[in-house]
Amino acid sequence: MPASAAKQPLPLQRSPSGSRSAPTLLKWGSLTEMNAPNASDWVSFRQDLHRHPELGFAVERTADKVSKALTEMGVEVHRGIGKTGVVGVLRRGNSDAAIALRADMDALPIDEIKGRDHRSEYAGKMHACGHDGHTAMLLGAAEQLVACTEWEGTIVFVFQPAEEGIGRGNLDPDAVDAPRCGGEAMVRDGLFERFPVRAAYALHNWPALPVGTVAVRVGAMMAATDEIEILFEGRGGHAAMPDEACDPVVAMAHFVVAAQTLVSREVAPAEAAVVSLTQIETRGTRASNVIPGSVLLRGTVRSLSLATRALLHRRLREQAAGVAATFGCKVHVTIDEGYPPTINAPRPAGIAERAARRLPDVQVRTDLPPSMGAEDFSFLAQAVPGAYLWLGQADDAHTAKLHSPAYDFHDGVLDTGIALFCAIVREEARSSVRSVD
Ligand SMILES: [Zn+2]
Ligand SMILES: [Zn+2]
Repeated sequence: MPASAAKQPLPLQRSPSGSRSAPTLLKWGSLTEMNAPNASDWVSFRQDLHRHPELGFAVERTADKVSKALTEMGVEVHRGIGKTGVVGVLRRGNSDAAIALRADMDALPIDEIKGRDHRSEYAGKMHACGHDGHTAMLLGAAEQLVACTEWEGTIVFVFQPAEEGIGRGNLDPDAVDAPRCGGEAMVRDGLFERFPVRAAYALHNWPALPVGTVAVRVGAMMAATDEIEILFEGRGGHAAMPDEACDPVVAMAHFVVAAQTLVSREVAPAEAAVVSLTQIETRGTRASNVIPGSVLLRGTVRSLSLATRALLHRRLREQAAGVAATFGCKVHVTIDEGYPPTINAPRPAGIAERAARRLPDVQVRTDLPPSMGAEDFSFLAQAVPGAYLWLGQADDAHTAKLHSPAYDFHDGVLDTGIALFCAIVREEARSSVRSVD
């Protein structure tokens, strides 16, 4: 346990009415500087999480540690939301205003490279996306906000499992409509009905940006990601007698070419999208002198808006049906919808940008294009207005990309992340003061 977290928590006040139905505005008593973040206490905590990575929804040890830390700070803890999600609630004063700050807790099924002191102790599991750092940062921010008496309202600290989507369906293996990930599971489990907020915020360490950089933008920050499977069914036969068969390979090949026009000819030029057809599998034979009966094609579709996503899904189906009809085949299209696009709403994005600009020695970028990667904060940002930020972590000692076996979270950016979460709370308060004026 970090030493400073053991200090006596300040008494917290609850809303006298107990009513949470109509969140109003967070407000600060004054706008003086917050306590300087003390990140060093959280480095060992982060490295302990790194040594003990957990996957998907099976993050019991991490959730225990998070719950214990919050409890010791005096933060009210709710567990078991989205199976292993943890929610900490910190209330102060008489305001019913509320915002959510979110971190993810899960790791990846990767073997970490050797030679690191705090290397993963679990074979085949590794914090290769820095969620150990996100969890430590949010706890560090909670510690700061417990110690700070200059605000009123409610802060909901959301610690979610399964951001990486591993274990989809393991809440109920038989459920056809199982949550795709921890963010969706927590939202479906009533996260924002139980803890209503006016905005939600999250950040992700970003190895493409140097230390001391914060990036945020209004609109799409991360893409929607959907997996597609297209099965062309023809009629197999002897390769020397194609007139007696119906060749699904030819149909599939025409479809692959046609699908290249979806982005180039149908998506608006200023919109970004990706259609990548990545795997081709003939069914029933591997012989070169046999026309197979069917061919399975797999790929991924990425988009930055729900409208583009819907367009691509519709046109993929139409093109597949058209090509199949042209060549006398049948076709079955399966689209496995993954995460929706992560869209930053204007108000919280503006709050986050102003918060970042108030931090010393931080360069704020609002000019970067969105990433075509995906992020399950999107489910929270669909439920309430949200903002998702990138926090630079690249320097000479931290060059590895996310999901690389050489990756490690940069402990040197913990303090910036803590300060950023706190500054967001403070900026919410400042905007409230302005709006009251
Ligand atoms: Zn990841
Ligand atoms: Zn991640």
